[in-house]
This record gives sequence, C-alpha cells and structure tokens, in this order.
Amino acid sequence: MINPLRGMKDLIFDESRKYQHIIYAASNIAKNYGYEYIETPILEETALFKRSVGESSDIVGKEMYQFRDKGDNDVCMRPEGTAGVVRAFVSSKLDRQDGTYRFCYYGPMFRYERPQKGRLRSFHQFGCESFGESSVYEDFVMMSMIKDIFNALNIGYTLKINSLGCKDCMPAYREKLVAFLDGTKNELCIDCNRRIDTNPIRVLDCKVEKCQSMFNDSPKLLDNLCDVCDSDFEKLKSLLDNANIDYEIDTNLVRGLDYYNKTAFEFISSEIGSQSAIAGGGRYDRLVEFLDGKPTPAVGFALGIERIMDLVILPEPKREGYYLGSMNEDGVEKLLDTSLKLRKKYKVTLEYKAKSLKSHLKSADKVGAKSIIFIGNDELANNTIWIKDLETKEEKTIKIEDFNSLKETV
Ligand SMILES: [Zn+2]
Ligand SMILES: [Zn+2]
Repeated sequence: MINPLRGMKDLIFDESRKYQHIIYAASNIAKNYGYEYIETPILEETALFKRSVGESSDIVGKEMYQFRDKGDNDVCMRPEGTAGVVRAFVSSKLDRQDGTYRFCYYGPMFRYERPQKGRLRSFHQFGCESFGESSVYEDFVMMSMIKDIFNALNIGYTLKINSLGCKDCMPAYREKLVAFLDGTKNELCIDCNRRIDTNPIRVLDCKVEKCQSMFNDSPKLLDNLCDVCDSDFEKLKSLLDNANIDYEIDTNLVRGLDYYNKTAFEFISSEIGSQSAIAGGGRYDRLVEFLDGKPTPAVGFALGIERIMDLVILPEPKREGYYLGSMNEDGVEKLLDTSLKLRKKYKVTLEYKAKSLKSHLKSADKVGAKSIIFIGNDELANNTIWIKDLETKEEKTIKIEDFNSLKETV
C-alpha cells in the first residue's frame, strides 16, 4: 500500500468539506472587495523565493522543497503564495500600467519541516494581493475584508497591528536597535545572536521568553517613525476605531525584510493552543521592484487554512435532492431517464441494484435525500412512480411520463 508522504495528508469527507467551505466563503467575500482569482504555478525558479522570501529566513534557509529538474534548472515548490503572484504581476507587465490590480489565490504550499501537530509539509493558504494602491485606506479595507471572512466562518480573533516604517525611517531605527542588541548579546539566544547580523529586526519576533523580557527596554519602532509613516499609522488606527474593529498594537510584530514597510498585521486565535496566527499580512511597497518590476505599492495577506479548519464548524447538512430506486431491474432502467433529467437541477442518487422499499428508504436517509422516488411491482405495471418527501412525509403516485415532463423536473 502506498501512503501519502511524511507530513502530507489527504483532505477527505469533513476535512475536504471544511476546506471547500472556507475557500467558498473567503473567495466570495474577496470578490465583493474587487479581487480577481489568479492561478500561478506551484513550481517556480528557486531564485524567486531567495529574492522575495529572503535568504536569511528559515523558509529559504532550511525548509524549501528545492531540486534540480531534468533540464538542470534549480526549481522549488512554492513555500508561500505572495512571491508567485508578484512574479505574475511583473511577468504580465502590469507594473507598466496605471491602475489598481487585486488578486486572490488559494492552494497548497510546501515546506520541508519536521512534521508536528498543526504543521504539515503540504498545507494550504488563501491569500489576497493588492497592487498600485499606496493609500492606507487599502490596508484598512483589507483588514475589514479579513474580519468579514472570519465573521462569515464564525471564528473569533484578536487583531494585532504595527508599523514597520519605510526606507526613510527604518534604517536609522535598525542602527539604534543593533546598538541596543549588541549591549544585551550575552543574554540572548543563539538564533537572536545570528540574526543581529543577518536580520536584526526579526530578533524582536523571537519566541524565547528570556529574549522577549530583554526587549522591554528596546527602542520601539513606533517611536522612531518619520512624519509620513506616523500619520499613516495614526490614520489606520482611527479608521479601525471608527469601524469598531478592535485591535492591539504589538511593537514586536515584525517581518524583517527590506521590502516590507508600514502596516504589518496579524489575526490571532486564542482557541488553538498558544496564540496562533490564523492570518497575517501587511504592506510590501518595494517587493515588485526587488523582482525587477517598476516600483509599485502593494499590500497583501494570507490565511492558514489548516489552522482555520481546526476552528470552523460545518453547517448542519440539509436534506437535498432525490434518491431513486426500484424493486426490480426493469424499474431501475426506467428510472435512468428520470435521474438524468433531475440531475440538471438536483443532487440525485440512483441505486442500480433492485432492492426492497425498506432497504431503499434506509439508503435515502444515509445519503441525505429530501425525496425518494420508487418503482415497485404495482408502479412498474402501471407506468407510475411513487414519490415521498422525506421531510414533510407527503407522498403521491404519478405517471412516470407526467413526472418527467414536469417543469420542476427539468
Ligand atoms: Zn517612514
Ligand atoms: Zn531569542
């Protein structure tokens, strides 16, 4: 027997239903916000992720499904969705045109990590990317959209926000931070020490408690913003206040690559283990440029579908459609034609085996049919069918050709 690879799993029954339920809700809401579906390849040049996700990140450093293909190209299974969408935006030369372009995507992502609960090597994300809009209104509207998605799915959350500054104010802050970190080096963990040189902003994100306690006195990015970044952040807060969207400011919410700037946000669920992010995003006004496009402001987010699947409760299934069965083989054949007509409009189950009425009623319950259509010996002799609505318990016997020509049948 061949099983899925380690860290990968099939979504089946309730899990695939939850997956579809989440994607359906998120896609419909994104459509209302002007997002168009985009599908990009799962396999890309490795260079794309090195340049966008960043070589200093764990994702690129340790977790990529990277290999040489038969043409000796260095390729990689996407570890996240933004890079491919930005590449597609530049490949399609949309960066050379004016206007705003909004795309949503969903599908599997791949990271070669040690599999553990809630962390698979193949997992799914839904995400949106908006290009061409520098207004902080877009950041606010994006957060409203995510709020709408979680409300539609009945999922509670806490929103955390921060500003990462811009190319005018971030470098000076970074220097201040490095000076502070150099003074506390001996107290910090190995990862932090490595990051002081490679990616000092990410140090603030360290999950080690001792490190976090050292950062209480660190210089704060929000105290070091330039006037533009500061007024944008104030505006964002007032927009959220006016919309009654609760938020917390988290000065340690960082992303740490040079093209991330201004707004950064995370939606956290306290229902799954310790404070898990169920959505994260922010502005990346310089990534298009990093990937050889014309400078284009952009903002985006991604939802972690598996984490949301742990929280979402599927709506009670409603009875729907028809179950068709007969006591004898000639009856089954007569029902074939009826089933094809009904399927233009309804969910239909046709049982090919001749069975007793009692047995068919059981099966109709099992598939959740709203009505059963049955041909017994009398019905076969009279060219009729017996229909029973399994909810209202109404039943009737009518001529099969009359039923087939009814408006509700076709
Ligand atoms: Zn700034
Ligand atoms: Zn640390």
